[in-house]
Amino acid sequence: MKAVRIKVNGVVQGVGFRPFVYRIAHEHGVTGWVRNTSGNVEIEVEGKKRAVDSFVAALRSEAPPLARIDHIDVASCPPQGYTGFEIRESLSAAGEYQLVSPDIATCSDCRREIFEAKDRRRRYPFTNCTNCGPRFTIIDDIPYDRANTTMRKFRMCKLCQREYDDPLNRRFHAQPNACQVCGPRLSLVDNKGNPVACDDSLAASAQLLHDGKILAIRGLGGFQLACDATDVKVVKLLRKRKRRPSKPFALMFTSIEEIEKHCLVSKKEKELLRSPEAPIVLLKWKHKESNVAPAVADRLNYLGAMLPYTPLHHLLMSDAGIPLVMTSGNFSEEPIAKDNDEALRRLGGIADYFLLHDRDIYARYDDSVCIVEREPQTVRRARGYAPYPIKLGFDSMQILACGAELKNTFCLTKGRHAFISQHIGDMENAETLEHYENTVELYKQLFRIEPEAITYDMHPEYLATKYAHRVGESSDLRMVPVQHHHAHIVSCMADNAVAGPVIGVAFDGTGYGADGAIWGGEFLVAELGRFDRVGHLEYIPLLGGEAAIKKPYRMALGYIWSLLGEDTPLDGLPLNKLGSSELGLLKQQLKRGLNCPSTSSAGRLFDAASAITGVCTEISYEAQAAIELEMVAEGERRSRSVKPYPFDIAEQDGLRVVKLEKLIAAIAKDVRGGVPTSRISLKFHRTMAQMVREICLSISKDTGIKVVALSGGVFQNRLLMRLVVESLETDGFKVLTHRDVPCNDGGISLGQAVIANFVLSG
Ligand code: ZN
Ligand code: ZN
Ligand code: FE
Repeated sequence: MKAVRIKVNGVVQGVGFRPFVYRIAHEHGVTGWVRNTSGNVEIEVEGKKRAVDSFVAALRSEAPPLARIDHIDVASCPPQGYTGFEIRESLSAAGEYQLVSPDIATCSDCRREIFEAKDRRRRYPFTNCTNCGPRFTIIDDIPYDRANTTMRKFRMCKLCQREYDDPLNRRFHAQPNACQVCGPRLSLVDNKGNPVACDDSLAASAQLLHDGKILAIRGLGGFQLACDATDVKVVKLLRKRKRRPSKPFALMFTSIEEIEKHCLVSKKEKELLRSPEAPIVLLKWKHKESNVAPAVADRLNYLGAMLPYTPLHHLLMSDAGIPLVMTSGNFSEEPIAKDNDEALRRLGGIADYFLLHDRDIYARYDDSVCIVEREPQTVRRARGYAPYPIKLGFDSMQILACGAELKNTFCLTKGRHAFISQHIGDMENAETLEHYENTVELYKQLFRIEPEAITYDMHPEYLATKYAHRVGESSDLRMVPVQHHHAHIVSCMADNAVAGPVIGVAFDGTGYGADGAIWGGEFLVAELGRFDRVGHLEYIPLLGGEAAIKKPYRMALGYIWSLLGEDTPLDGLPLNKLGSSELGLLKQQLKRGLNCPSTSSAGRLFDAASAITGVCTEISYEAQAAIELEMVAEGERRSRSVKPYPFDIAEQDGLRVVKLEKLIAAIAKDVRGGVPTSRISLKFHRTMAQMVREICLSISKDTGIKVVALSGGVFQNRLLMRLVVESLETDGFKVLTHRDVPCNDGGISLGQAVIANFVLSG
């Protein structure tokens, strides 16, 4: 006889773990019990030695698909003489925490049921089981029991209760379990809140979409706005009403086969689309064969595509049978709406009709966005991923890292876990700040974290930085300011579980530099707790500050005037279309240095190149000019005859500085000479890759470091990324790129948390 006490840590609650334990206990003929605690799952079993050993082995090897086991602890204990195996009441212990599962896309069993003629859940849009359904969006405390979720107000009917109580049922302790009789319901209303008379809200919604209407749909983590993606008129109307002139919309398709009619889909991309996380994946758009309205993603070669991930989406897509725009339910820049009243109030001017339901949402949760280069990379991390933590290679203090500004997230650390929040959004208004603060409190509560320190970006004007000061000054938390690009590089290191030192190449739009300038084209030698800036792109005046970011033609003028001289003729360049009075004013501004901070930003260099070539001179969403420049290059065959432009590397104050005069002059010459834009763009991308290569070789020569970490939003540029990785690998570098954490500012909070931990622990 043998008896053991087992503790299982990881994502083991809300994923069908206890019924699984129950089943294998019976299979292996052991007795005892299993229970959830707020820290882990506890099991006690006894039986013949061989039976107990094989039970323990099966715990690991046969765990349910959604479980993620971090650690199993087995200790012997005195046998109690149990006669059967039971599932005991959950136990909540003070201070302990457990991982919370993200929301999971509808599993194949549930999908089958909702389309099956005789099933009692036929066409039921809130069907779920222990293998799928809402989790994080409906929970406000642990342990994960129905009473701690927004399902608490629905009393299960007899049939549902029977499933819930049956350890061998797929719905055993499925907390959101529900059916037509007892669960949440849909309702269809117009934009004044008046009910629309119909027998079936889903079928009626599908009809409205066919009729060219815009629908607000209450989804999993908030409202989405939907319309027919093949109808140019309604897509443009949605743009106008949502005040989103050109930022691309994501689409939902009924199936992979349907996506393949519009996009090229690789094997890895298919796997990702069909995964339990079911993110939006950016796919190569087959423009010629696709009838998706070009206005969905103007001038872009990629479509953001996803598959239905809730029963509601499955049913609606199947009824509608057309690709739908499925974009977040907000005005640009605001958080996604989640409550019914709130949505009617905020989105009434955008949507014609509202498909509502009465299962409340605690956590706003946007769709995640991924790309597949060699491996999947997360660009926006939310649904399906958060709040599952990133695993750290060391034991961390409890730290709150506040992040940066755009695409912001925060990060809370405890032990080996870094809980990066779901994508919060651009921290530029009070609504987003409020959402951010509430979400910080939710994570602190769920994971029982009481920060000892708070870390933040050095930029004094970021709302997240101001929040950090407010919290820090009203408590005795230790405060750790962190430089933006150091945080980028360390987030990439942590994402790859590498301690460094590495050569860090941080290319982005804007980050507050240690010298007060705006950095963004940075070469660092970085460790987890410190860094040296060893190189950068040369400083250029940001003509008119923020305005230069929205108007890349100003950036172009800043480069041309400061590098080639103020009298450089603009003829033959798209910039000569500017009025002489505006040009005069800008020139005066530059001369006097009025609102012209210095920047080494790589993002701004892309903007300038985009404007000088006439690809994009004004933008309406972040990085638009750079993205459109990248798209143009794809028209060019990547032949070896397309050589990079010239540039120089100078040494200034002990730093390697990339001098850009020759580059800008050469681009202007090509534009005047009528060289195709596609070729100029490809040459420009090659030039950027060549800069990275030369500087990394030089740093490596001095330091002996052969590992390069690439981070910063500019590396969302897939062409640049490919060229840089290829050339660095040819030179024998090991290249680290992002995986689970975005390379853009959404990854900053992780970097900050890791840095602060090392700064404080010395
Ligand atoms: Zn299911
Ligand atoms: Zn029921
Ligand atoms: Fe950044």
